[in-house]
Amino acid sequence: MTRNMIWAEDEKFTGWCCSQCLWGIVAPRMESTVAALAFNREAQKSFDGHACARHIQRETMTSRPSC
Ligand SMILES: [Zn+2]
Repeated sequence: MTRNMIWAEDEKFTGWCCSQCLWGIVAPRMESTVAALAFNREAQKSFDGHACARHIQRETMTSRPSC
């Protein structure tokens, strides 16, 4: 199954999340494009390293956006 990194933005959460599980990474306030690019690189790395099976269990994470 292919998983995708999805950009989510609402009052509670701004950042990347996974299309297959509850994995997510909150984006900090970014001052510049360089900072944004660096963050996106980090997010991609983290995304690549996460295991969906481990995150799918976290049903208690109520702040999860609908993505
Ligand atoms: Zn995942």
